[in-house]
Amino acid sequence: TIQALQPVVGAGLLAPLVQGGEARYVNLDYAASAPALASVAEYLNEILPYYASVHRGAGYSSQISTSVYENSRHIVRDFVNARPDDTVIFTRNTTDALNLLARCLPAQGEVLYLDIEHHANLLPWQHVPHRSVLAGESIAETIQTLEQEFSLGGVSLLAITGASNVTGEVLPIAELTSLAHRHGARIVVDAAQLAPHRAIDVSGWEVDYLAFSGHKLYAPFGSGVLVGRADWLDTGVPLLFGGGAVKEVRLDTVSWAEGPARHEGGSPNVLGAATLAKAAEVLSGLNQAAWQRHEQDLRESLVRGLEQIPGVSIHRLFKDSDSYPNSGSIGVVNFSVSGYDSGFVAAYLSAEFAIGVRDGRFCAHPLLRRLGLPTGSLRASFGLGSQGEDAQRLIDGVRKLVEHGPSGDYLVESGRWVP
Ligand code: PMP
Repeated sequence: TIQALQPVVGAGLLAPLVQGGEARYVNLDYAASAPALASVAEYLNEILPYYASVHRGAGYSSQISTSVYENSRHIVRDFVNARPDDTVIFTRNTTDALNLLARCLPAQGEVLYLDIEHHANLLPWQHVPHRSVLAGESIAETIQTLEQEFSLGGVSLLAITGASNVTGEVLPIAELTSLAHRHGARIVVDAAQLAPHRAIDVSGWEVDYLAFSGHKLYAPFGSGVLVGRADWLDTGVPLLFGGGAVKEVRLDTVSWAEGPARHEGGSPNVLGAATLAKAAEVLSGLNQAAWQRHEQDLRESLVRGLEQIPGVSIHRLFKDSDSYPNSGSIGVVNFSVSGYDSGFVAAYLSAEFAIGVRDGRFCAHPLLRRLGLPTGSLRASFGLGSQGEDAQRLIDGVRKLVEHGPSGDYLVESGRWVP
């Protein structure tokens, strides 16, 4: 019954596949943004009439808005299984959340991060005292490298992704958390990719901070979350100076509020928070084991099919991610087709097969360079509603390209391949 809103495309675009009528557009780009769930869209329409600014109005709409907004915070708290005293801040997205945390670091210590990160979990730390290390060929080796780095002392925060947006490989968060804690450091997990695919357990994993985005969680764009320990957050200088974030303002000075308000300056995105929370609620109700099995089956069948096509390579980060405890993969497959520019392959798949995949460097330039893919690769990613036939259509499309070559002329226009 859980349905992601998916467009259908006219037969013109899909001429090789359908005779007349319409066909499903195959979205294999959930890792970039997941379409809103039908139930999220319904909920949005339900609350839209009560649109009013929160917190400061006594009017009926304002009371409803405030209650929707604050209730969303409770839902998110439950969704990530936060500790009772954690602060839950609504942000614009993961990028915003991690930049915000970068403003709240203690005076002493450095941030440690790996070269596998999305730029959102790399650039905010470049501008504070930091150290970066290269991940190893395996998770085991990477943990050893981190252990050595921690032993040198002086690390206050380990910033690490929960799942790679490039390869989908999942990192063992509880183990990394206990490693950081053993060395007196905290951990922040970039859960932008993890949260839509795995149950999040901030308390159980003992994670200090965690960030994710609504638009990858089947909610509309414009909302995200930073959750975590209040002490750093209550002392950091807000990223946004403005109304609502203050205790008291004098003409030339300010004392900032504590709690989420400190970091939610200006009128908040009530509908963004509410739809994010609604999506979180729906995902929490999923049969996680069944959903993960389905996603895993899709990924494996896609990998198997692609591997049989001459010239196709699958890219992975770690050789032990399938066997390492609490690792594995979300529904992401990264690949390239020998002799073809990735942008070209993506344009071909879109024009000839109505398949949406992502190409490029996935906002992870250091990682792509290390994987030996300086000009980028292709990423197919699954989500709710993905079916076996989606993987098969991609396999058929790539096979046709490799065996028969492109059927039309493709040009580069404004840096992108177009038919
Ligand atoms: N981290 C990871 C792992 C991501 O995949 C993304 C989105 N591609 C981000 C951070 C940034 O998310 P947003 O653009 O929503 O801020």
